[in-house]
Amino acid sequence: MAPTSLTKRQSTLALASEQLRVLESTDSIPIFDQVLASHGMGELVASGIDVLQINVGKVCNQTCSHCHVDAGPDRRESMSEDIATECLRVLKLAEIPTLDITGGAPELNPQFRQLVSEASSMGKRVIDRCNLTILLAPKFEDLPEFLAANRVEIVASLPCYLEENVDKQRGNDVFRRSIEALQRLNRLGYGQPGSTLPLSLVYNPVGFSLPPSQEDLEADYRRELRNRYGIEFTQLFTITNMPISRFLDDLLKSGRYLEYMDKLLNAFNPSTLDGVMCRTMLSVDWQGNLFDCDFNQMLGLNLQDVPSHIRDLDASNLHDYRRRRISTGRHCLGCTAGHGSSCQGSLQK
Ligand code: SF4
Ligand code: SF4
Repeated sequence: MAPTSLTKRQSTLALASEQLRVLESTDSIPIFDQVLASHGMGELVASGIDVLQINVGKVCNQTCSHCHVDAGPDRRESMSEDIATECLRVLKLAEIPTLDITGGAPELNPQFRQLVSEASSMGKRVIDRCNLTILLAPKFEDLPEFLAANRVEIVASLPCYLEENVDKQRGNDVFRRSIEALQRLNRLGYGQPGSTLPLSLVYNPVGFSLPPSQEDLEADYRRELRNRYGIEFTQLFTITNMPISRFLDDLLKSGRYLEYMDKLLNAFNPSTLDGVMCRTMLSVDWQGNLFDCDFNQMLGLNLQDVPSHIRDLDASNLHDYRRRRISTGRHCLGCTAGHGSSCQGSLQK
């Protein structure tokens, strides 16, 4: 590892711990367990493991302003073959039906194709959280066909159907390249009405607001993308900007952190709690460390009660992982505000 990479990784760890400290010391906002208790609810507990979500690393071809992973082209953190093999072992052992691969741009990880092909041959549902532009990158020209051949579901970020808004959040020319990638996926059958190749789009607010109704926005996306570019997609997921990583940094720098946390707290919706993704998910980082969700992973908020590395999960303790208590924090208010938010979009359809 080059010294510059080490420095970047160390600064990321320092940032995560500083952000966790900020969240944990925000006395004017009650802690998440207090919010639950004020609605007569106990602490969050897992109800099983339906999804193994693997974050294969922080390497990405983009540098989006809201990125909760702090990913980019200069990152070097990337899952090894050894850890990828452990992930496949656990997928099989625990009979987890879904493998959800995220990053960074997960396709840039050298283990990506092995993970996809082996999980697919086990009969698992495989999801690729794709940034779209990677599908046009040199040396990745065959990626769309590879994904289609393995029946991989694509979940792709497109925070708006307007070029200006997308480029503002995701970088210059990202919108144009995203549209080109979507058209290519459509030609392979992805997202077409009645197709068995799902193509879901992800919206997150450009500013400090909460997402609007998923159904209403999906209708707008469908109309605009179809009329302007002839693009079809399966469904739209609306996701709340979580107060962590680059977005938390922006909130702190702009002096709007407490305002945003207050907004999340005031919009707390107890009926979202059954569906928060940590209750049915196990999240793995590029080094094999386990977390309740990708957000806890970014904050370095560890599992409770059970060993925290994927190598330690075996048949003897699997039950403990399925029924573990969830580690929560004030950032959890992002999942429970309004219609709720998860990797599968709104929690209230
Ligand atoms: S494409 Fe995704 S992982 Fe990459 S910088 Fe943007 S938000 Fe982060
Ligand atoms: S951030 Fe959301 S998914 Fe993660 S532990 Fe909190 S409620 Fe669960």
